[in-house]
Amino acid sequence: MKTYRIATIPGDGIGKEVVPAGQRVLDVLARASQRFGFDFENFDWGGDYYRQHGEMMPADGLDQLRDKDAVLFGSAGDPDIADHITLWGLRLKICQGLDQYANVRPTRILPGIDAPLKRCRPEDLNWVIVRENSEGEYSGVGGRVHQGHPIEVATDVSMMTRAGCERVIRFAFRLAQSRPRKLLTVITKSNAQRHAMVMWDEIAAEVAREFPDVSWDKEIVDAATARMVNRPASLDTIVATNLHADILSDLAAALAGSLGIAPTANLDPERRYPSMFEPIHGSAFDIMGRGLANPIGTFWSAVMLLEHLGEPEAAARLMAAIEQVTADPALHTRDLGGEATTAQVTDAVCTLLQGGSLRQAA
Ligand code: ATP
Repeated sequence: MKTYRIATIPGDGIGKEVVPAGQRVLDVLARASQRFGFDFENFDWGGDYYRQHGEMMPADGLDQLRDKDAVLFGSAGDPDIADHITLWGLRLKICQGLDQYANVRPTRILPGIDAPLKRCRPEDLNWVIVRENSEGEYSGVGGRVHQGHPIEVATDVSMMTRAGCERVIRFAFRLAQSRPRKLLTVITKSNAQRHAMVMWDEIAAEVAREFPDVSWDKEIVDAATARMVNRPASLDTIVATNLHADILSDLAAALAGSLGIAPTANLDPERRYPSMFEPIHGSAFDIMGRGLANPIGTFWSAVMLLEHLGEPEAAARLMAAIEQVTADPALHTRDLGGEATTAQVTDAVCTLLQGGSLRQAA
């Protein structure tokens, strides 16, 4: 029997509630399958670790993750610690250190979810956003001089390399090719940013030649926001730079009904290092510790983790259980307008995975 080594990093806020729920669901799934198992190792990195040790994760933290098959992550964010410290000290450190250069964010309107676009049928919104996850606007290059003086200057330089653009655009074309519509939209801003984004466009056109069966188009990022709202069915796979995709994917999550549902995968497609799976929501301190967090974003991330491990049947089983649960309004958490708790949603998914029915779970 295959045993997968999984690192769990709950991090901060509701991450500490949704990651244990995700671990439980994966365990139940493994026991039901009897074909594979999980060996979980938990890491208590995050805001509390920072208060004790002055850093979000230990200096050799990346080495502790290297031999894992995957990482299940919660969130990083703390009301008492600056956002750039929590983000750069943990999540970005792992993504960049393990060269997880493709951030993949599927968006669909799941059964039972009341999404805000009234004219959009669920089948009209089925997207996967691929975000460049290793450089660009978040490369960390820049600095501040003359701090506190009237002549203070600060720069954040967007670094885009040919190799970095090529690999993520090629990944996106491959992903588009694997989906039924074989349709890719390349997001750009080359009208205003006339160096790096022009190179990005040129590389897209070059890589496109390798994929004659994929239809592709280009869209300026600001126009893309309107297109997502007005013509959602015209989009399928989308590739964008780090900053552009960061913004577009929050819009996508909102259009699909809730931030609490959306999953993401930080992939090293070459599999040199473990990939990391996480809900896209943050630490949500307003609801932490109250059992109100929607764990569906973490469960859907676990589906992506299973697909990455090469367990497509288990992934499909978990996705089917998730969709059965979202279809039942009695199992909606507060973010979806319901009153269900994290534990009730988790119990319901586990009952379905064990072959039970939702009536038994109630
Ligand atoms: P961070 O600063 O770590 O990004 P945040 O609290 O600013 O976190 P999010 O956590 O991403 O931002 O979400 C904003 C709001 O959406 C939260 O305050 C919370 O009310 C709601 N929310 C997000 N995720 C969930 C969830 N899983 N279940 C229920 N509500 C959620």
